[in-house]
Amino acid sequence: MRDEKKEMKGKKVMGRDRKFCGSRFTRPVAGFDIHEECGVFGVFNHPEASNLTYLGLYALQHRGQEGAGICSSDGKQLFLEKSMGLVADIFSEKRLKRLPGYSAIGHNRYSTAGSSVLKNVQPILANFALGSLALAHNGNLVNAAELRRELEEEGAIFQSTSDSEVIVHLIAHAKSDDPYDRIIQAMNKISGAYSLLILREKELIAVRDPFGVRPMCLGQVDGAYVVASETCALDLINATYVRDVEPGEMLIIDENGLRSMKAVASSRRAHCIFEFIYFSRPDSYIFGYRNVNGVRKEFGRQLARELPVDADIVIPVPDSGVPAAIGFSEESGIHFDFGLIRNHYVGRTFIEPKQSIRHFGVKIKLNPVKQLLDGKRVVVVDDSIVRGTTSKKIVKMLRELGGAKEVHVRISSPPTVGPCFYGIDTPTRQELIAYTHMIEETRKYITADSLAYLSLEGLKKIVPDSFDFCRACFDNDYPISFPGEHLEQLEILFR
Ligand code: AMP
Repeated sequence: MRDEKKEMKGKKVMGRDRKFCGSRFTRPVAGFDIHEECGVFGVFNHPEASNLTYLGLYALQHRGQEGAGICSSDGKQLFLEKSMGLVADIFSEKRLKRLPGYSAIGHNRYSTAGSSVLKNVQPILANFALGSLALAHNGNLVNAAELRRELEEEGAIFQSTSDSEVIVHLIAHAKSDDPYDRIIQAMNKISGAYSLLILREKELIAVRDPFGVRPMCLGQVDGAYVVASETCALDLINATYVRDVEPGEMLIIDENGLRSMKAVASSRRAHCIFEFIYFSRPDSYIFGYRNVNGVRKEFGRQLARELPVDADIVIPVPDSGVPAAIGFSEESGIHFDFGLIRNHYVGRTFIEPKQSIRHFGVKIKLNPVKQLLDGKRVVVVDDSIVRGTTSKKIVKMLRELGGAKEVHVRISSPPTVGPCFYGIDTPTRQELIAYTHMIEETRKYITADSLAYLSLEGLKKIVPDSFDFCRACFDNDYPISFPGEHLEQLEILFR
């Protein structure tokens, strides 16, 4: 791995390399996992705190399937239970009983290559000068390696390879008798995306990075406050939405109620556009209470306006393409149906480490409905193309097994040309087919009759507010800089 890293140094990575998947960087190389798509949930002062957290995590399962954990407090002590696997498999009644108390936080961790280990599952529990602390983090820090090096030089011993542990150490190392001041000191050092929940014996603290990259909302149930990555978690437990946790805000929830502090100044927002495109659940309302399903449908409508096609049927790639396909059908007047059936009991395949498994995964997950597709001109709508693997398999499947006469691929987001450093699991730039290939080349690769993506301008029409969103995956304009290191170097070092 080290040799590969050396080899890549000095190579131009910004240029358009025409060779498909030319260089496959292996990641991670610095003992760090920087792929942190996760879900967090917390509740304070409720007799069913751990049960509610279990349900909250269950609703947020789509944000992470590798492992999950819950930490509760009885006011004197913190209790932690965490394991690899899915929420419903991890938490039995017996296990939930081992989480007593009136407050709790929980975390779902996304499955990533090379880091599937229990030590990386959160919440992270630690003791420091001011008591105990449990931390659950959604997002990704861009200066974690640098900070970790500094902390290690000062004598810190790390238990995991997760960037989130850096935050715990920074809080523990901060010089202050005031826990909030310590958290603010840590926030001033870290850079990147973080929606954080911190549980202490007698309080729950919610913190969001100054750019508001990942979503985070505040709700109330039976008079108790809850904080969650997405509103779908509030819905399941009958909580009402109060508001979003503001970018740069620290919310302190204790026996006196709720207090808000402006912890770090925020010059602009950079909500992740990919939450709308792929990651959040369609029933959620995120980033100022916009419904994800509604936005996805609008993407589909816009796509149909921009790139119409003569066809007999519009089908989605389930589940990610469903709202956009409905929008496409409504706008174009082309009949909509479920021409691909998904096996819901198979986990997401995208992040599986080996190419062979990923290829297999598409087949295991989807099957075409021949009765709907035979001899038809089919428009198939998906939310994104990353490496091109899924689309290629689907086009082949629609023709060979479904009997489709023509297959027109429509993508409800612009071409993905930039990797994400803020928490969406994307491969290296060189592995992004839209970066290495022109659209016509990609069309040939996936063997579609036509291929079209939503334009960046079209996307901005649906989700305007240029300074409120991060669209780096589509325009390579990264709103949070990488201190001390160039973007290219960061990509080489960590991917
Ligand atoms: P690919 O096969 O590499 O082109 O991946 C595209 C497929 O992966 C699409 O069906 C997307 O819905 C899905 N996808 C896009 N981004 C992600 C992600 N970060 N994690 C998991 N799946 C994704």
